[in-house]
Order: sequence, then structure tokens, then C-alpha cells
Amino acid sequence: MSEVRVRFAPSPTGVLHLGGARTALFNWLFARHTGGKFLLRIEDTDQKRSTDESTNAILDALQWLGMKWDEEPIYQSARMEEYKASLSRLIDEGKVYKCYCTPEERQVMRDEAKSAGRTFIYDGRCDGKPDQPDKQFVWRFRISKDGETVVEDLVQGRVVTPNYEIEDLVIARSDGTPLYNFVVVIDDAAMGITHVVRGKDHLTNTPKQMAIYQGLGLPIPSFAHLPLILGLSKRLRSAGVESYRDQGYLPGAVNNYIARLGWSHGDQEIFSDTELADKFDLADVNRSEGALNVEKMEWINQQHIMATGREGLAAMVVPFLSTAGVEVALDDPRLPPACETVQLRSKTLVEMAAKVKFYFLEDDAIVYDEKAAKKFLTQESKVRIAGMATALEGSLDWTVQSIEDAVNGFCESSDIKLKHVAQPSRVALTGEATGPGLFEMMVVLGRASVLNRLRRACGDE
Ligand code: GLU
Repeated sequence: MSEVRVRFAPSPTGVLHLGGARTALFNWLFARHTGGKFLLRIEDTDQKRSTDESTNAILDALQWLGMKWDEEPIYQSARMEEYKASLSRLIDEGKVYKCYCTPEERQVMRDEAKSAGRTFIYDGRCDGKPDQPDKQFVWRFRISKDGETVVEDLVQGRVVTPNYEIEDLVIARSDGTPLYNFVVVIDDAAMGITHVVRGKDHLTNTPKQMAIYQGLGLPIPSFAHLPLILGLSKRLRSAGVESYRDQGYLPGAVNNYIARLGWSHGDQEIFSDTELADKFDLADVNRSEGALNVEKMEWINQQHIMATGREGLAAMVVPFLSTAGVEVALDDPRLPPACETVQLRSKTLVEMAAKVKFYFLEDDAIVYDEKAAKKFLTQESKVRIAGMATALEGSLDWTVQSIEDAVNGFCESSDIKLKHVAQPSRVALTGEATGPGLFEMMVVLGRASVLNRLRRACGDE
């Protein structure tokens, strides 16, 4: 096989939602898997709906997901001359004709087809009509009605369309403005695309596009139409990738999750990007529609958090801490160990930030949860915590072992159990009744902060 060249071709009219991201991902993975090229084409010919803001949002989202494109993106708006040249060729070769039917006339044809129980196919009535210089027209591409068009789709299998079902399609307006099915063919050919991998919603366009390839004498690429993504509300389906970033998902987890919506490799659930690229093949894409499932996505995210090194988590959690109101320097040495103490219990980076936030607050800024304080910071436990603080003062090397020894020694000499001080000191240190393992947390918090916070809770400071 010659070098694989695939492309993702978003229309910049909104955000990159998960469905679009998955189309991009499958193209990217296929390119990585085959050692080919992954290209981008911004389909911005619809000037009313396309915005730079949307283009930037889509490029940012792809970048965040780690899908690097291999050549400069192509913008359709910059290629009008090429489209006009192809149209002129088709006009010269007599492969297109002017259609003067008005929208009202087409509506009548549509209504007639409907009442006769047929699908509306434009009947080519303008083909061969003499020119009508004063009338508005569109350019229609003539499609032979004999035979059938076969798409050997790499995902959907063999899809056969009788040619009488393919209407002479409009490829340009009277001023030469080209339309989607026409420009896609010109661009895919110019970009040397070998495999068109896109959503199944485009499958009905493919026979029309194949006819245009033939009309322009261009080689037809392979096609793979991906199953759609269903489930959940439209709002969730159409939420942009950046909203998942803001909810604290890891890019690798988003890729893992969307890859599994429509593709599988045995019963493996968790994949890194590298593993996905190793294992991905279009032949393993399912035909059945994938459904979004938030719990599954969270679970996958949690698995990715668990598999990420603490330094990596530290770098990722900083912006979430900032959103939570705490500015922490990237090189703060407490960050990696702090993340490690909550790593197994954080489903998202938002949760992780909320769980490690207390480490980075000023000692006197800890706010006690009302219920927790009422239950655990009683007069009796305050006395115990004060005693424990004194015992801890002697623990100079400040390791889990030395802290544990000091606390256990204090409990023994005071004839109390660990549980009598564990929860009260947790509330004193974090403000909450739940949190990381007590001794690990104390190590990360540091001796001075632990003593300050314990004494503050007893009212000693
Ligand atoms: N611009 C089209 C879309 O966003 C994709 C066209 C294609 O992949 O051929 O749906």
C-alpha cells in the first residue's frame, strides 16, 4: 500500500464535540498505525456560519487531545480559484448544466413525489434547456442513471446504490460558489487522500462524490464511514471537548473513551495513546452505534489518573487548583506527593484539586466543616490533639514511620486508641472528616504546618 494519507475536515461552525473528536481520532490513529500522514482541512466555504473563533477552538481541542497534524491545515476559503477552474473544466466538457428551477418549483416536485410515495430525486428537466440569460440558476452535475454505484466501505461493508436514485447534484451556484460535495472531491484529490474516514451521516454523499471523481478523471479513495454516537441528551452529545478538559478529564482518557465508542480490541478497556495507535485498525471498527455513558467515562478517567506518574498529575492539577482559588507554583515540592495521596480516589482533576487544596492553604485559613467540627473537635479531643502535637514535636526526621511511632506512643501513654485522635486531627489538618491516609498526609504537609494546624484547632494558637 502506498503511504496512507487521511484527513479530518471539520466545518468551523461550532465547537469540537465528542463525535467530531472521534472522527479525528480514528483518522489520526489510522495514520499513526500505518506510518501515514494525518492532515487537516478547514471546511469554511460557508462564510455566514464559519468563524475564526470556531476554527481556533477546534485546533486547540485537537492539540489538547495530542492529535498532531502532519502538514499545514488547508483552508477551503483560500481555494476558490481551484474550485472555479474545476467547474470551468466540467462546463467545457459538457458534464454540467444550468438548472433554473426555483425553490417553489422544487417544492412542488418534492410534494408530488411525497404524495406518490417516492423519494424525491430531481428529474433533470433543465438538462438540455436553452440558456435563459435573465434567470437565476445553479450548476448541476449530470449523473448517468444506468447501473449502480458500489462503495466497498471499510466499516459498513458493500453499499450498493442504484444510479437512478442519485440525482444530478447541484455543485455550484450561478456566481460559481462551489458546494460541499464538489469541493470535498477536489480537495481530497489535491491532498492525495487515500482513505476518507468520516461519520456515517456522510455515507449518502459518497456515491455522488464518486460520480464527481469520475467526472473529473480523479482516482477514487477508499472510504470508511464510522457509526454515529448516540445516547444521552443532545446537550451532552454536542458539548465541546474543552468542556471535558474543564471538568478535569485527561486527554488520554478522552481518547481512550471515544476510541471505545465504536472500536474494540478484545475485552481490553484501558489504552494509552501509544497502545491505541499500535492496536487500532479500521477493520476493527464496529458498525453499531456507540452510546455515551458518563459513568464509564469517569471510570476510564480514574484509571488514567491512577496510571499517571505523580509529577505528571502535579503539572496537570495546578490550573484546577487555581480555579479552586489556590495558586500553587508548578515547582512546589509538595505538589507531587500531595497528588499521590489522593490519586486512587480522584475521578477527575477537579476532584483531585478539591482533595489536595487543603495542603496549600495558609495554616490559619483552614475552615472546619461544621458537622465534622461538632462531632470531632470536642473539648476532650482538643486536649488529646494538644498532647499529640507535643508528642509529634519530638519526631524530627518526619517520616511516615516516625510520625506513626510518635502518635502510637502518645496513644499508649494516654491509654487511648488511635481512633480517638485520628479523626479529630484529620479535621484539624484538613477541615474535613475524610481525606488521605493520616500519616502520609502529615509527611506531605510538613512538620511546621501539622503542629500549627493541630494547635490552632485546640485553640492554643
Ligand atoms: N465538513 C464535513 C463535516 O464537518 C466533513 C466532510 C467530510 O469529512 O467529507 O461534517
